[in-house]
Amino acid sequence: MFHAAKSTALALAVAATPAMADEVNLYSYRQPELLKPLTDAFTAETGIAVNVAFLDTGMVERLQAEGDRSPADLVLTVDIARLNAVVEAGVTQPVQSEVLSANVPAAFHDPEGQWWGLTTRARIVYASKERVADGEVTTYEDLADPKWEGRLCTRSGTHAYNVALVAAYLHHHGEEATKTWLEGLKSNLARKPQGNDRAQVKAIWAGECDIAIGNTYYMGQMLADPEQTEWANSVRIVFPTFENGGAHVNISGIALTKSAPNKDNAIKLMEFLVSPEAQEIYAEANHEYPIAPGSEPSELVQGWGTFTPDDVNLMDIAALRPDAIKLIEEVDFDG
Ligand code: FE
Repeated sequence: MFHAAKSTALALAVAATPAMADEVNLYSYRQPELLKPLTDAFTAETGIAVNVAFLDTGMVERLQAEGDRSPADLVLTVDIARLNAVVEAGVTQPVQSEVLSANVPAAFHDPEGQWWGLTTRARIVYASKERVADGEVTTYEDLADPKWEGRLCTRSGTHAYNVALVAAYLHHHGEEATKTWLEGLKSNLARKPQGNDRAQVKAIWAGECDIAIGNTYYMGQMLADPEQTEWANSVRIVFPTFENGGAHVNISGIALTKSAPNKDNAIKLMEFLVSPEAQEIYAEANHEYPIAPGSEPSELVQGWGTFTPDDVNLMDIAALRPDAIKLIEEVDFDG
């Protein structure tokens, strides 16, 4: 469920400022702390206030329940599957804008403009510095090799991040090979899938496993947290590739709601978020990869090395999601 206190705060903020036309309301699955530097910069530049309601889950249901009366102008989320779910629920409207088109490569937005990508992240391998040699793991396929028996950790197979990875595997190898791969992964697990991505790195640090699957930006988040710095320092980032492709990449993105009461301001905020200025704030704040041409990842992120992103289209990943979930359940991955 969404955070009732925070959503009430938004409702109050909206109700308390009826005369203030210069605002925009955002429903976000992303943490408010992460957005603050961006929304502050936007407000400073435009005078438009940004009200953020942070939701844990249930964004689609909430937008549907609120219907035309929804205060939300924009939805911000991570993962192509969630962006796609919002669009498929019919609660968004397309946006076409020269600024957006110029700053967001074609691969990272819906062809009709129903959603626009803002940043990317790769789903990579965290490898123990002590127990895994350089070059010992180079591909996703290799994670199913019996040499990793009892040495692999991951969060739930049905989490959106892993579903997208499995969908990409399906794209490259088809159903039978993907099922075999999932069975191989499962038999290599050091423990039942549990916890978030950072919990897997903690498990490497604690000696429970040697390699883990996780998103790149968590390295930055762990390094920024005194309690987790040791976990981060016990591993290095390996960018695996598919045997005939690149490293698996997913996105964060934004969509305009169908009923957006502050549509013009909302589009201004979308355009701001893909500007080089905002892209670098974003990259710095969450250790992701900016997508606008000319924007650079933070120095920390650049230090993790370069990689070739996989060439599978994000829409194909979204389309393969049901098949991926079916296979993950068939092999009882979390069981
Ligand atoms: Fe995440």
